[in-house]
Amino acid sequence: MLSNGGFYLGKLLSNVDRREEVVKILKVLMKRHMNVLDRQLSRSECSEQVIAMFFEKSNKNRQFVIDLFSNSIGIREQMETEGFIDQLLSSAIPEKNKMLAAFSQTAWGRAKLRTSGALDVVVDVFSSSTEIEEKLSFIAAFRHFVHDTAGMRHLSENLVFVNTVVRDINKYVEEYRNECVPSVDMEFVTKLRAVDSETLENEQAMALVEETVDRLHKDFYSMWSYDTPQTSPRRAHSMSPPYSPSPNYSFPSSVASSAGSSPAARRTSEGILDELSDVESDHEEEKKEEKETIEEKRKRQEKSIVEGELWLLTWLAQDDHNLQFLIRDDVVDCVVSYLRSTRDPDFRTYRVLRRMATHRTHVYRLLDLEFHVRILTGLCAAPCRMLKYAVPCKHCDKCAEHGREILREFASHVDNSYGDAHINSQFTKDDFVHRTKAAIAKIVLVKERIRLAKVPALTELFDALSHVMSSPENFKEIGKMTTYENGPSFVSQIIGALSILISGQKIKELCLNDMWYFPPKPGTGQCLLEAPPPGEELLRFIDDADSEIAVAPMKTVCENSHYFEGMYSSDFVEKTEAVRTFQVQSESCSPEDFRIFIHLLSTCTATCSTVSSAEQCATLLALSDQFLCPDVSERLCNIYGPLRTYLNGPSLHTLLPVALATSGHPTLLDTVLLTLVRFSSSENVTAALEAICENSTVVNTFITSLRAFLTRSANIDM
Ligand SMILES: [Zn+2]
Ligand SMILES: [Zn+2]
Repeated sequence: MLSNGGFYLGKLLSNVDRREEVVKILKVLMKRHMNVLDRQLSRSECSEQVIAMFFEKSNKNRQFVIDLFSNSIGIREQMETEGFIDQLLSSAIPEKNKMLAAFSQTAWGRAKLRTSGALDVVVDVFSSSTEIEEKLSFIAAFRHFVHDTAGMRHLSENLVFVNTVVRDINKYVEEYRNECVPSVDMEFVTKLRAVDSETLENEQAMALVEETVDRLHKDFYSMWSYDTPQTSPRRAHSMSPPYSPSPNYSFPSSVASSAGSSPAARRTSEGILDELSDVESDHEEEKKEEKETIEEKRKRQEKSIVEGELWLLTWLAQDDHNLQFLIRDDVVDCVVSYLRSTRDPDFRTYRVLRRMATHRTHVYRLLDLEFHVRILTGLCAAPCRMLKYAVPCKHCDKCAEHGREILREFASHVDNSYGDAHINSQFTKDDFVHRTKAAIAKIVLVKERIRLAKVPALTELFDALSHVMSSPENFKEIGKMTTYENGPSFVSQIIGALSILISGQKIKELCLNDMWYFPPKPGTGQCLLEAPPPGEELLRFIDDADSEIAVAPMKTVCENSHYFEGMYSSDFVEKTEAVRTFQVQSESCSPEDFRIFIHLLSTCTATCSTVSSAEQCATLLALSDQFLCPDVSERLCNIYGPLRTYLNGPSLHTLLPVALATSGHPTLLDTVLLTLVRFSSSENVTAALEAICENSTVVNTFITSLRAFLTRSANIDM
């Protein structure tokens, strides 16, 4: 900049009449030669004038004062006075909060903001503001406190601040909810089938088998499982040092760049200088803004705000002192739902939860919050991990991986005499819900055998399950209740805890026994109904309105059904009178389902025997039990059969009652129980158990089978 222009311009500011003109020039110079201008202005002793300009009646120069203050060093230093802050606090000028926020850039300013109470004022405005731009500028201001321990402590102690962060994150998750909808990897199951039927060359087949087993590995965790900590907490610490923030730590978003310390870096982003509307701006910037619609800009900015808040939360959690204010159910929940339910979350946010888990002081509080259940259901049981053979999903895998890491940390502080004592003390309570919660914590977090044996946790869990399922009323009242807001049902918590007992080896075994059902392709297979052997006696099936459903060869029907065999081979009336018609009771099933059943009964292998849903499977299996057709049951339930393919969390309420009532295949019940404990969301579990609790005999069969299944598959002695 030529000669000493800034100095003279600064001097001229005292002349009120020429002020307008001078400010215009200064704005242009600020954009182009900030550093030189700053130096020259600060020598002109104009700080008093600039401050006075902020409090002028007209608001036209206020933004200029904020910009000058925010982007200078020398002149800012002269403006940083207690008098200025006091004057701001007592004024009613709308821009005063922005001005106060700008003080956050220096250590002096931050200390003054904190001690004068101005920081609390800014937090209050931040909380009530609905202006996106304004919120962004406050976030930028708060970010400067990262360098200031006392300031950060002040923020964490400020209830309004933490509440606002939680509220904003929840609102964001609600508005941009993007939860995975898992789908089956058809390419994978086709390969699986090919490997099994050995239609491939040996070498090729071996490679595929290996790939298959590798791929399945991710499924070998129980629904709530995580690796058991093998090391003492101290050792675990030294192996993976706790995250220590460095000033360079930042989110890869626009918020991050706005936190850059040099004014130049701020210029291209959401920085304060962006608001210099009447000064010529860079062409590039203009172009960029043109491309982005208003809606897109709003979305990007809302994301920036929430990411900024989460970033601050992550930083706050680094200081042990702050954890006492952050360990709250709503803080845990909002971070979990941000990670689980939004598109491309910043996974480093999980450090908030990990920090909570690593702090021994707060173990009891976290146990009482059911921290482990929140992590298990929210992160470990991410949607794509709850479907067998799901298309691989990085998001869900990452959620589960972080969830397990958090739990490992947490368990290392619970699985010792200190943490365990708290759990054991709960066992003496009269309230059975309390005792069950303690039993869940015990099973999930304590792995050390001697500590595990101190209280009868498993007995407690099974007793609770029996009690909850003993009547539909109990189920509704206790089974379906939640132990915290938006939490999983009580009964699904019990099942989840039991799931942890199943060994990976058992899951692997059961998964490998499970192939995929491919319906017959058109033009393949044989159908005796379409082309009955000539000269054979036929059996005609009709509905109760006498319409024909199907006509099948008598011999084949009798061979495959003990019921029809008994009916037509013995001295039954039908035989002697040569009536070859069977009337189907319509209430038992639809004519369409019965038609498929007759095709299956007649060993049909063409498309007419296609089973297309879980409900149909259940109906067909019931028919096959009713008409005593073991081969049809076997065909429905075997490892290539449709039942296992249609069996998943959402269909469990249809298939669990059927599986408990049938003996179609020796490993079927195991597969169904595995689906219950491993591949079902808490809603699925609740619906499935509700479907059977009407009938106490079925409930008894269920509990006995579950116990037997766990005993056969358990990691520990039952
Ligand atoms: Zn997913
Ligand atoms: Zn057929």
